[in-house]
Amino acid sequence: MRRPMVAGNWKMHGTRASVVELINGLNQQALPAGVDVAVFPSCLHLGQVVDGLAGRAVAVGAQDCATEAQQGALTGEVAASQLHDACCSLVLVGHSERRLLLGESDEVVTRKFAAAQSSGLLPVLCVGETLAQREAGQTLEVVAAQLSAVTDALGVEVFSAAVIAYEPVWAIGTGLTASPAQAQEVHAAIRAQLAAKSPELAGKVRILYGGSVKAASAAELFGMPDIDGGLVGGASLNADEFGAICRAAGS
Ligand code: PEP
Repeated sequence: MRRPMVAGNWKMHGTRASVVELINGLNQQALPAGVDVAVFPSCLHLGQVVDGLAGRAVAVGAQDCATEAQQGALTGEVAASQLHDACCSLVLVGHSERRLLLGESDEVVTRKFAAAQSSGLLPVLCVGETLAQREAGQTLEVVAAQLSAVTDALGVEVFSAAVIAYEPVWAIGTGLTASPAQAQEVHAAIRAQLAAKSPELAGKVRILYGGSVKAASAAELFGMPDIDGGLVGGASLNADEFGAICRAAGS
């Protein structure tokens, strides 16, 4: 039995004032005990969120980390070890906005994944196809290659301490959600790919769905056999909506 996870990606949103409001809203939510809940604020607000959610069962993660695990001369970057020191416990790697808009390659994503793990962070590896790739029938191939980039370099065992998020690019921030059946097909393929190397590990790894998840669509998505929760962008900026999505994962 896999423990569900719901994670909120706040992206490049927030001011000190709006983050206070969001923290206050989250502190008023009843969160289900059986669900791991995490939020990923901008790096600038990590300390504020760690302090503001102290005592709540909400983990705090970063949206990215440097390819180098340790601090050093790399202007503008944040090392995974610094995130760990700042009380982060997770980090997103390979979000499609970074892959597509900032040119992050599979190799860079893999190095960030390794840096995160070596610093004691749980990497959340984001994979997913563009609309053109889906329309060309390449969805499973694209996702398999993104996953293989990590397993080929680091071994399948690294997924015993990592989470995967399947996020079809065409569904991110567009209001278009993959249907539960579309998402399940890809989640099952991801799990089968891991199972070919380690059936035991594949049965345990959590695979989250991300792409315009809302409270109204969450329960049906999370009810699919290989969907273990969600990575939520826009809807996570509303504490009531995010709380409802977390509760859907617990029901
Ligand atoms: C995301 O950015 O990871 C995401 C899933 O965004 P949204 O929920 O807004 O589509």
